[in-house]
Amino acid sequence: MSSAVVDFDDALAAFDPVLGLEVHVELNTASKMFCGCSTAFGAEPNTHTCPVCLGLPGSLPVVNAKAIESAIRIGLALNCKIADWCRFARKNYFYPDMTKDFQISQYDEPIAFDGWVDIDVDGETFRIEIERAHMEEDAGKLLHLGGTTGRIGDAEYSLLDYNRAGTPLIEIVTKTISGTGSKAPQVAKAYVSFLRDLMVSLDVSDARMEQASLRCDANVSIMPKGTTTLGLRTETKNVNSLRSVERALHHEICRQAAVLSSGGLVQQETRHWHEDGGYTTSGRLKSDAEDYRYFPEPDLVPVAPSREWVEELRATLPELPNLRKLRLQGDWGFTDLELQDVVNAGALDVIEATVAAGASPQAARKWWLTELARRANEAGVELAELAITPAQVAEVQGLVDAGTVNDKLARQVIEGVLAGEGTPAEVVARRNLAVVSDSGELAAAVDRAIAANPDVVIRIRDGHLQAAGALIGAVMKEMRGQADAAAVRELVLAKLA
Ligand code: ZN
Ligand code: MN
Repeated sequence: MSSAVVDFDDALAAFDPVLGLEVHVELNTASKMFCGCSTAFGAEPNTHTCPVCLGLPGSLPVVNAKAIESAIRIGLALNCKIADWCRFARKNYFYPDMTKDFQISQYDEPIAFDGWVDIDVDGETFRIEIERAHMEEDAGKLLHLGGTTGRIGDAEYSLLDYNRAGTPLIEIVTKTISGTGSKAPQVAKAYVSFLRDLMVSLDVSDARMEQASLRCDANVSIMPKGTTTLGLRTETKNVNSLRSVERALHHEICRQAAVLSSGGLVQQETRHWHEDGGYTTSGRLKSDAEDYRYFPEPDLVPVAPSREWVEELRATLPELPNLRKLRLQGDWGFTDLELQDVVNAGALDVIEATVAAGASPQAARKWWLTELARRANEAGVELAELAITPAQVAEVQGLVDAGTVNDKLARQVIEGVLAGEGTPAEVVARRNLAVVSDSGELAAAVDRAIAANPDVVIRIRDGHLQAAGALIGAVMKEMRGQADAAAVRELVLAKLA
């Protein structure tokens, strides 16, 4: 059931939204956070387990050094301070996917804290302050079966898979984000998108929202315009696509405005996002931190990264994805809109590689965003998964530039490469796609077109040059498209001059 909502513009006229975003990132370490079990995705249920990640009595956790390294690099990339001494903490609560009845997490001593990132939305920059990035372990996975929703409410039984239990997570928590007004949902989406790109460029996570290796809990409250007291917030859990982050917040702002406008109170609670209906429903009342009875984890030694190591890791940071975008936009001379299209299509890497292979930026952009985007869409794959390499796309454009093929024939070349018929040059040869460059053959075709269209000839000679299109069309048709239209036009006009 969806609740009453008010129109977004009306909500924003009366209230200011305040956001808080918690993003969990699953690290791509080979083994788990506190044991040697594999983190590989998709194995038979409960095969990647051991006494530690099953929480059996007497087992002792040991910290994964690679996970600490990734946590520090993430913290540095988010402009955080890195603790020179910090501890893990037990977060106590019962849930069947967590065998120990506590999660090993960090509480008041996170490994990284007090950072910031700048996020651009429509040319406006919003600074998002990072409260902390802390380390913790993931829980197992519950499958609720026998019902229609996959949720526990109408399930007949549930199955547990502990393969994921103990996978290293970094939880990145923002400070409250205010002053974004009607752009709040877009700012949240842009921030999560930034984090996703950042994790990939740091090579610490595959950051796939659809596989839940990056998931966002979106907190939002609203306060009447002109006031400064924070309202009670809701936390929409595990939103699993960028678009859903934006939609869920949009919905929550409208729903909370409806509650407050009708004299009600917003419940401080978690909420579930329903992708299909585009609304949220009530989850559980939100616990306060004290309910978790945090205390320092006695089975693990403190983590005390040396300053030398931290500086070494700082030196390994790649160019930040947002700065890279700005640099490429400058190098390529793309407008904001052109760059945005490229980013939205996920084409930044392939275009960069195509340009590196010798194509002009505009040509690279054209092929990847039109013909190849269409084919990737039809096949339901990413651009990079198409069976054509950026170097081959550059080669296709090279054939166009050399006049060997025109744009229409180039699309057939691409079709041939995708069908596994070989390199662009091989496809041209095999399919006999090269434009006819034999001037005698072209001239004869032009003569035939002129002879067959005396009325058109009269109009051209009267000065109606645009009438030449009919003759060019006739020649192109006869040549089955394998002629250079510009050359045909020149020839037609020369003969009639
Ligand atoms: Zn294990
Ligand atoms: Mn967490």
